This record gives sequence, C-alpha cells and structure tokens, in this order.
Amino acid sequence: MRIPELMERRRPFLSLEFFPPKEREAWPQFFDVAERLKELDPLFVSVTYGAGGGTQDNTLEIVRRLKRDMDMEPMAHLTCVGASAAKIEAFLEELRRADVHNVLALRGDPPKNNPDFDFSSGEFRHASDLASFIKERFPEMAVAVTGYPEPHVESPSIPEDLHWTKVKVQAGGDFLVTQLFFDNRLYFDFVERLRGMEVHAPVIPGVLPILSINSAKFILSLCGASIPGKFLSALESAHAEGGDEAVREVGLEYAVRQAQELIDNGAPGVHLYTLNKAEACLEIGSKLKI
Ligand code: FAD
Repeated sequence: MRIPELMERRRPFLSLEFFPPKEREAWPQFFDVAERLKELDPLFVSVTYGAGGGTQDNTLEIVRRLKRDMDMEPMAHLTCVGASAAKIEAFLEELRRADVHNVLALRGDPPKNNPDFDFSSGEFRHASDLASFIKERFPEMAVAVTGYPEPHVESPSIPEDLHWTKVKVQAGGDFLVTQLFFDNRLYFDFVERLRGMEVHAPVIPGVLPILSINSAKFILSLCGASIPGKFLSALESAHAEGGDEAVREVGLEYAVRQAQELIDNGAPGVHLYTLNKAEACLEIGSKLKI
C-alpha cells in the first residue's frame, strides 16, 4: 500500500530504515532483526540503495522479501546519480512486479573515487528529475524525497535549500523524510518555513540513536549534521566514566526524548535509523508513548 494513504490512517507512527548487509552470510541475521522489529508495528520500513553499485540488487531483493515473506510495507531508496533512464526504469519495473509502491527518490553522492564528478553529464542531475520521471512513468508509485533541517552540504544558503526542496515536492514528492538531526528546533523551523512557502506535504523526521562515539563520528562525517555541544559533552563524559555501555545509555535516552518531543509537537511520526540493530530500537520503542 502507498505510504501517504497509510499516514492518513495512523498518526503518530514509527517507521524504520534498514541497510542491505553486503555479505550474503549476514542476511539471515538481518531478516531476524527485521522480524524482531515487527513488534514495533512500523508503518513502513525503508531500505537504502548503494549509490556506488554493489548493493542495488540487494535493495530490490530485500524489499521484495520484506513485502512477500514478512508482511511489512517497504519503501525502496533509489539514487539516480550516473544512472541511465533504462536502468532506473528496470528497477522501478521490478518494484512494480514485487507489488512495492513506495520509493524514496534520491540524487545520491558522487562516486567516492571521483570527487570532481560532473553531475551535468548524466541523464538525471537532481532528485527532482527522478521524482518527475517516476511520476510520469509509474504514476501509481508514492514518491518520497529528502529534506534537510540543516541545509544540504552543497546548498549555499537556507533559502536556496528550501527553494530546491519545494521544486522537488512540486516535481512529484508526496512526502519528505529528513536527514538526521539532533536539535528539534531545526526540524520545526524547517517545517514552518516550508509551510510558509505553501509546501504542505508531510515531513517525517529521521532520528538516529547514537550507540557509540565512533559510529557517531563516522555517520556525522558522512552527512554533515551537527551535535549540540551539551549532548556531545554528555556522550564524552559517559565514555570517560563508563565506556561504550554508558555512551549507549545516554544515546538511547536522548533518542527517546527527541522522538517523543517531535511526536508531542506535531510530527506525523518518526523514522528511526535502525543501523540494523534490534535491541536498541526495541528499547526506544518500549519507552516511546505513541
Ligand atoms: P537533491 O535533492 O538533488 O539535492 C542535492 C543538492 O542539490 C542540494 O544542495 C539541493 O539544494 C541542490 N539542488 C536540488 N535540486 C536542484 C536543482 N534543480 N538545481 C540546482 N540545485 C539543486 N544516499 C545513498 O546513496 N543511498 C541511500 O539509500 C540514501 N538514503 C538517504 C535517505 C535520506 C532520508 C537522506 C536524507 C539521504 C540519503 N542518502 C542516500 C544521501 C543522499 O544521497 C545525499 O544526501 C545526496 O548528497 C543528496 O541527495 P538528494 O536526493 O537529497 O539530492
């Protein structure tokens, strides 16, 4: 079923993001995690797509199995950077065949080994190109696009970032899923500014539980989100006093508080970046009042 219709039926909700494990041997464990997380009754589950190749078929196979074998409502991520229209179309055909009607339309990042990559060389330059392509060829698909409460690293200013976000929604985005962030004011400001620009699509906030100092550093270096100073010092003191276990506790407690505040103040739901970890997400789910 399409996510916009599901959102009309149930709010607030939790949704979950998974990434396809690279190694096949890890798949049984992955599906075990997904099975355990059914307990959270997610409205939908999304599966990331490797822009550099390698895991794209895995995305397809995983969404197929989540839908067919596990009765979950999946959304496939799809990046268009460097891809041909034929390749994108083939992927969408496969989704259609698998009865999956939700896709997150992304531009993606340049290949890691080519920092001077020329975006204008491909058939798709921006996520908005992909969103309009999907709407034209696959009108039954619900299309999600990204939102950046802290502007995207390539955006020269907040107004410019908001402008292109609006263009993306007008091109076919039915709803938005945000980049992770740790200060809820960023999300509420972002939504308010969009509403002021007559963009009324639902904006689902993405929440990442911090489970270790190293993973936090790694993830933040990838996406450009910032950690509020107070939270960072709480994590660092926890690490100094109690090691990784104490960091995990502080990180989980923060994620619960953050998600609860988002929901209590009008977010339609919360999209949890699971990092494919069941225990942490179950703990968050058990503490959230939804
Ligand atoms: P766009 O919306 O195209 O924006 C990129 C930049 O271009 C922004 O600065 C924007 O303001 C600007 N821009 C947009 N349109 C125009 C235009 N028409 N003219 C001029 N400038 C424009 N990456 C993966 O590889 N796989 C994944 O599965 C994945 N999942 C993600 C899920 C979420 C929720 C988020 C937030 C990100 C995800 N990413 C993923 C990362 C994403 O690919 C990168 O952030 C990428 O750099 C931007 O993709 P986008 O779709 O947001 O780009």
